[in-house]
Amino acid sequence: MKVIFISGGVISGIGKGISAGSIGLLLKKHSLKVSFLKCDPYINLDAGTMNPIVHGEVFVTDDGYEIDMDGGHYERFIGITLSKDNSITTGQVYSQVIKNERNLKYDGECVEVIPHIRDEIVRRIEDSYGNNDILIIEIGGTVGEYQNDIYYEAERFLKQKLLDDLIHIHVGYLPIPKSLGEMKTKPTQQSVMLLNQRGIFPDIIIGRSEFSIDLVRKKKISIATNVSDNNIFSNPDVDTIYKVPKLFYDQKFDKRILDLLKIKPSDIDFSDWEELIKNIDTKPKKNIVIGMVSKYHNSGKFSLEDSYVSVVEAIKSACWNKHIGFKIKWIDSESFTENDLSECNGIIVPGGFGKRGIEGKIKAIKYARENKVPYLGLCLGMQLAAIEFAQDVCKIKDANSEEIDELSKNKIIHIMPDQEKKLLDKNYGGSMRLGAWDCVIDKNTLAYRLYRKNKISERHRHRYEFNNEYRKLFESHGMIFSGKSTDGNLVEIMELKDHPFFIGVQFHPEFKSSPILPHPLFLEFISVIISSNGSI
Ligand code: GLN
Repeated sequence: MKVIFISGGVISGIGKGISAGSIGLLLKKHSLKVSFLKCDPYINLDAGTMNPIVHGEVFVTDDGYEIDMDGGHYERFIGITLSKDNSITTGQVYSQVIKNERNLKYDGECVEVIPHIRDEIVRRIEDSYGNNDILIIEIGGTVGEYQNDIYYEAERFLKQKLLDDLIHIHVGYLPIPKSLGEMKTKPTQQSVMLLNQRGIFPDIIIGRSEFSIDLVRKKKISIATNVSDNNIFSNPDVDTIYKVPKLFYDQKFDKRILDLLKIKPSDIDFSDWEELIKNIDTKPKKNIVIGMVSKYHNSGKFSLEDSYVSVVEAIKSACWNKHIGFKIKWIDSESFTENDLSECNGIIVPGGFGKRGIEGKIKAIKYARENKVPYLGLCLGMQLAAIEFAQDVCKIKDANSEEIDELSKNKIIHIMPDQEKKLLDKNYGGSMRLGAWDCVIDKNTLAYRLYRKNKISERHRHRYEFNNEYRKLFESHGMIFSGKSTDGNLVEIMELKDHPFFIGVQFHPEFKSSPILPHPLFLEFISVIISSNGSI
């Protein structure tokens, strides 16, 4: 087994996940079986209970696990399907050790951070090797933070076993302060020193900065860190993260890693990614505006796209594929006006929870339905499309979702039977209907036209469902329930007759979209926008 650890220095958001994904892709192209492990230093058992504004999107795996958004990057870059074994949190490690202690697994020992917590981390790392050739392990946060120290300690310990089969890649920061106009290397020198204090001596440094690193600065870093300048690579700002693999490839970064790990390189075919980059770089003749009516993006003066990163990437991938320029317009569901919508060529209401912002989302859906603007509702976006339809078309004025109004007499969306008890018990964590479930699609529907098959599998994350008592009424008013769970009980896809594109899905197709294989739902959404706006 060969293991690559990746750490970051000085600032969060330095691009460890993108670097890990890009390295993974290059190694996969050398015919190696690559897997990932993300070590998150938080105490939460998983990412599912965290506010996306603070922590970014919660990514859902096929096997029903709620992991950090970096999981999405890994899947999108190398096209693998992750599972629960691809992520560790400190909470999981501690709860396992405490369980072991209660079960007398430690034979009367005093249970301590070292060795027991460290050894549990090492055990989990070893458990996740599977039948892969290379495991890329990303340590969350930045080096020097108190809470991730134990992961570095686990790495140091593992190195004693794996020796040259373990390498460490450090992503360092090289700012160019405006007042100085010079690329500064000290932040990287200092974060490497922090690694050294933990017994970690990096083999490779990736310099994150606005521009590529020149030889003068490479030498400075090399002298201070003992990392040869041949092992220092540049990761300058690029207009899309999907250019990073090629950027590494052009620097022969993959060859260097293979050298260090004593793996023979093979001829690699990079044509699919070169084609993707060509698509991204082709200047589109036309532009469209996609309105994202959401509530988890406002953060002071900034719009946080990370809360919806998979949706954003799915939109981008579909637009690149269709050679159309695009702008994503972030529309705050609590404060927008109709003017904000009138600029949009397509509208998306993504997933969400709770009462806040619901009214605005319903208003936006009504606008899309009445003005024949292509509409894509994702999970909550489907549920609210059902409520809007019930209120305005079926004339059920008090139609609502049980999540929003428990006492409503017309719960168009209601709690799933097996979820009721979980809520009563306040069993919120990891207890939704999660992961991949099959869905059967009826022929002669929009859903069938775009998926071109009658059985699909998509990932879910919800507690509420469409209330089947209203199916007939909806159908009599022109709603089509085109996708259902295999037992026929759960509405998975609903679409509107007599509308160019109005579809709501109970699942999250965005989790299965990638730049190389954009998701058919997003592709068709973009196609319809293009064809129904001849004048764009
Ligand atoms: N809040 C809704 C539910 O739990 C929708 C969830 C979502 O959009 N992911 O069913």
